[in-house]
Amino acid sequence: MSAERTVVIVGAGAAGLWCAERLARSCGAGTDVLVLEKTPRTGTKILASGGTRCNVTTTLGPDEAARLFGKKGERFLRHGFRTLTPLDVRERFEGWGVALEEAPLQKVFPRSGNARDVRDALEAAARGAGARVELGAPVQGVGRDGDRWRVDLEDGMTLGCDALVLAAGGMSYPGTGTTGDGYAWLRDLGLEVVDPVPALVPLTSPDGWVRDLTGIAWQGGDLVLEDRSSGRATRLGQRRRPLLFTHHGLSGPGAMDLSHHVARAAGEAPLDMVVRFDAFPDLDRDAIRAALIEASGLAGNPRLQRALAGTPMGPMPKRLFAAFAGASGLDPEVGVAGLAKSARHDLVEALKGLEIPVDGTLGFEHAEVTAGGLALRHVSPRSMNVNGYAGLFVIGELLDVDGPIGGLSFQAAFATAELCAEALAT
Ligand SMILES: Cc1cc2nc3c(=O)[nH]c(=O)nc-3n(C[C@H](O)[C@H](O)[C@H](O)COP(=O)(O)OP(=O)(O)OC[C@H]3O[C@@H](n4cnc5c(N)ncnc54)[C@H](O)[C@@H]3O)c2cc1C
Repeated sequence: MSAERTVVIVGAGAAGLWCAERLARSCGAGTDVLVLEKTPRTGTKILASGGTRCNVTTTLGPDEAARLFGKKGERFLRHGFRTLTPLDVRERFEGWGVALEEAPLQKVFPRSGNARDVRDALEAAARGAGARVELGAPVQGVGRDGDRWRVDLEDGMTLGCDALVLAAGGMSYPGTGTTGDGYAWLRDLGLEVVDPVPALVPLTSPDGWVRDLTGIAWQGGDLVLEDRSSGRATRLGQRRRPLLFTHHGLSGPGAMDLSHHVARAAGEAPLDMVVRFDAFPDLDRDAIRAALIEASGLAGNPRLQRALAGTPMGPMPKRLFAAFAGASGLDPEVGVAGLAKSARHDLVEALKGLEIPVDGTLGFEHAEVTAGGLALRHVSPRSMNVNGYAGLFVIGELLDVDGPIGGLSFQAAFATAELCAEALAT
């Protein structure tokens, strides 16, 4: 028996496979669900994700999770996250035999620690539900054909379909197959694409003292990104998450979560941005000052950095302390008793707001996601249907949504895919 209609999904990544499974399961043989994937395998980014452990979703509730996508993203995703909550995602994977476990920073990973289990389960579920997945099938273009849709394959073949779902992803980690192909198709259809920029990507710093801190990680600090190009400081974003110093500059969730602001501004004029790093956000200046004064009475006049270890501030790596000392004009070797009042003041200021210059990002090659994509005003947040284009749907990272690190990108991919499949199934 031939199917009554054909739905083509372009891209067998997180969103495409999720949509295929849900649609094929709901519609049965009446709908031919065909997934076209450019590369020889499905879900390449799933395999690479979370350091190959795959942070599959978040422990946050749907509204809290949606809020992390900024005002515009939150408005767009709220319905999707309530329809397919992070808990639903977990239940779906557990149902497919992937045991999950929670981890710090509201993350959820497969208990096996292996991203392959997530990818394999998703692919098996899609195929098992009846979806066809064609690998090594790069799509070159798409277009309207009367009231149907046309998909042009690179080998010269053309397919017709009743509905077309674009799930071709963004353009980060282009080596995995995502080279931004979908943006050109959307622009050719007359739709606005918000310029794609790399996001969740390490930041670069021009200053040698920053790179000298390579390898040092700091948990629980507060990072504020400031743009000073207009002559005064404009606050672009704030995160309280781990920071890692690298030989390029800054990495770790704290820095990477702020990176889309840097990427968006880069390329216009030379960047004049700093990350203000508060190493002890839970201690106010008075508490730090009091701790330093109390430590100054320590027997044997230990070096300042050693004396810190016994205060509420706790131990700090020697090189990092040297950076704080340097920023406050202090000799890092000074004994705690030798700290003059003005020097103590400068040290407190440095500990509460070390200024780390940043001048860019490591770009798409190292970005976990792409910010920018199909402008959300074109898309129904309830169905992912492109307004005014019957039968055309866009899901996943190809949309202009991006959130912080923590399983939120997959949550957005799955939730938008779920809504699209539901809309197509009814
Ligand atoms: C290193 C790394 C780590 C990450 N870790 C996490 C994490 O732990 N948690 C998290 O939530 N997110 C993580 N992400 C982000 C997450 O992987 C993506 O946001 C998510 O995969 C987006 O899903 P998608 O289906 O929209 O796009 P993708 O998963 O990128 O899938 C798009 C698919 O479309 C295919 N395609 C592209 N062009 C064509 C074409 N012309 N024809 C046919 N097929 C095409 C691609 O080959 C690809 O398979 C990570 C990303 C990277 C790069």
